[in-house]
Amino acid sequence: MPPYGEFIFGHEYAGDIVAVGRTVDEFQVGDRVVVEAHMGCRRCENCIRGLYTACLNYGNTRRGHRANGFTTNGGLAEYAVNHVNTLYRMPDAVSHEEAVVVMTAGSPLYGLQRAGGYFAGETVAILGPGPIGLMALQLVKAMGAVRVILTGTRPARLALGAELGADVVVDVRHQDPVAAVREATGDKGADTTIDCAGGDETFDQAIKMTKPAGRIILVGFYHRPVTADLADAVRRNLTIYTERGEGGTTVGQALALLAAGRIRARELVTHTFPLSRVHEGFHALERRTGDPVKVIFHP
Ligand SMILES: [Zn+2]
Repeated sequence: MPPYGEFIFGHEYAGDIVAVGRTVDEFQVGDRVVVEAHMGCRRCENCIRGLYTACLNYGNTRRGHRANGFTTNGGLAEYAVNHVNTLYRMPDAVSHEEAVVVMTAGSPLYGLQRAGGYFAGETVAILGPGPIGLMALQLVKAMGAVRVILTGTRPARLALGAELGADVVVDVRHQDPVAAVREATGDKGADTTIDCAGGDETFDQAIKMTKPAGRIILVGFYHRPVTADLADAVRRNLTIYTERGEGGTTVGQALALLAAGRIRARELVTHTFPLSRVHEGFHALERRTGDPVKVIFHP
């Protein structure tokens, strides 16, 4: 990332088109759209293969790469400029607020896609009941998982997880998450584990709670180097996947799932503020005032 202060941040946003570029005939003024943050450079070998969130020119605006809200101007503004290939038309039944949250679903959905996209009959453990984890929970169920075990520290978020379909919720302040998953699976371990927390201990926990030859998908960003028992992962033949951002046009897929009622987004919106009170919104998030999940700003 370039230093803060050099661009407008906010990478999850939706809006109405007020102007189109000369060659754009896919959209018209007035269309309601939601965005994805990443536009690859379209000239490196990864972009040519469709891996645009892993663009080799990431952050290089001169070569055409844009990650709106990360390296170029994003959505905390009244107007934003987006390349046409980062826009998805919103179905009529989907509100702007829901569409913004669906953008959050793109990232875990890309992780699920990278891990093979097939979870029929599986028990899946998800660490971290934040917006990404709450979306991963619904997505993996929409993709065939029969049982989800959700672990975390905040009771309000765990309760929301239960409402959105988690079969077992584990408050890690009172229960050892590895023991809880082992107990819930008859000591087998989860078929797939998704780390949406990115905590100091969650990668190691993910390894220990996954069955032999199971899958681990790392979605949350770790804030510093973490320690994990990788020998255990090797000995038990685990496969570890990573993902970056909402690649593979997964925002569009998540939007379709939302419109079809397979995933829910409205429940995640706990706070709304006018854009003029943006600082209050960030304070609410930082101080956890009123158990925020998603804070939405309206211009
Ligand atoms: Zn590229």
